[in-house]
Amino acid sequence: MIGKKAGVAFAIIFLVGLFPVYQLFSPHFSKTEEPEPSVASEPALKSIESSIEPGETLFSIFQKHGLNIDELFAMKQAAASVYRLRQVHPGQSYRFVVDDRNCVSAFTYQINDNTELKIERQEDGFSAQKCETPYESRALTISGQIEETLVGALGASKEDLSLAISLSDILAWDIDFNVDLRKGDSFKVIAEGLYLNGEFKKYGKILAIEMINDGRTHKAYLFDQNGRSDYFDPDGKSLRKAFLKAPLSFRRISSSFSHSRRHPILRIHRPHHGIDYAAPTGTPVSATADGRVTFSGYKGQYGKLVILSHRNGMQTYYGHLSRIAPGVGAGKTVQQGDLMGYVGMTGLATGPHLHYEMRQNGRPINPARFKMEAGPAVAKASMPEFRQLAAAVDQVFARSVFYSAVAAKDSRSDAGDLAFMLSSQ
Ligand SMILES: [Zn+2]
Repeated sequence: MIGKKAGVAFAIIFLVGLFPVYQLFSPHFSKTEEPEPSVASEPALKSIESSIEPGETLFSIFQKHGLNIDELFAMKQAAASVYRLRQVHPGQSYRFVVDDRNCVSAFTYQINDNTELKIERQEDGFSAQKCETPYESRALTISGQIEETLVGALGASKEDLSLAISLSDILAWDIDFNVDLRKGDSFKVIAEGLYLNGEFKKYGKILAIEMINDGRTHKAYLFDQNGRSDYFDPDGKSLRKAFLKAPLSFRRISSSFSHSRRHPILRIHRPHHGIDYAAPTGTPVSATADGRVTFSGYKGQYGKLVILSHRNGMQTYYGHLSRIAPGVGAGKTVQQGDLMGYVGMTGLATGPHLHYEMRQNGRPINPARFKMEAGPAVAKASMPEFRQLAAAVDQVFARSVFYSAVAAKDSRSDAGDLAFMLSSQ
């Protein structure tokens, strides 16, 4: 992971330093490293690396590789206070280092994305400890073009989905990722890729985004100030705003409908000043801003309705809900993004849809015209540093090779050849 202050400086250096590398290697760069000749005098340790297959236990893995079962018991005992080794899960990676007599000298097991169990032979048996996974971080450049959905443009794997969700989270105040995307919209992302033993494992932080949506360019730069990192536009203004662009969160919807690829949501403007979102019954509805619940229940044509009060005399309405989320009762404080309920067709509705309304001092207003209050901008004193970072990032956007996430699916690991390490762990 990137350190706080040092991370920014490092990011600048690394971004500036990126060009020569991009010019040197093409995406078809092939690895030509010779295997290192083995030195005869070194102890003959070999490494067994794999991942747990469905139905496999450590016992069967020991048998498969002809390892000494007695050592398995000793290892389990050593690990007992740290991690119960009988719970190995399919798909998790492991690595044995064994000597020429097939005695285990070290064993590593990936407990979860961020933690690994390390068991090592000591003079008097084994020692075990849990460690943070020592990811190597590389900067990856990914691009895509919207055909239908953001997820479609990135790919369908778990990691692609998580990148799509992170991207939508960063721009959620400006773009409604469920309805605003247009065919031909494009994006470029610079993101941390976290690698383990040279293999891509997952995405880390998004460092910068350039997204063209419906002809408008949106940019986001990750910048750290006072120990807090956040995303800013090219002028150093915070991307966080008092109100989210939409009450239907791409993040919530993506995680609650993970089985189907498309969840068509239509936005229908009505002369009644509200916005109707046609969406499947059960689609989660989120609070667009921090506030307090002033109404929660059934109200005439609105059906099941939640009304929130916000700063500056603002109110938001969420109507026709099939169900109000538990705990969303009058008087309760809510935060931006909190679950309010689920789309339905209670009250006067011909089909399942969310009726969303913004009011100021009781008068309906057009959310599209409303001037949003934004979060704290980059401090004046930090602006030179921010501008330097933004300029370096812009150069990467302008001149780098960006991998099309879908067209060249296999290139992600090759992208490592083009990228720099963000930190040395
Ligand atoms: Zn309506």
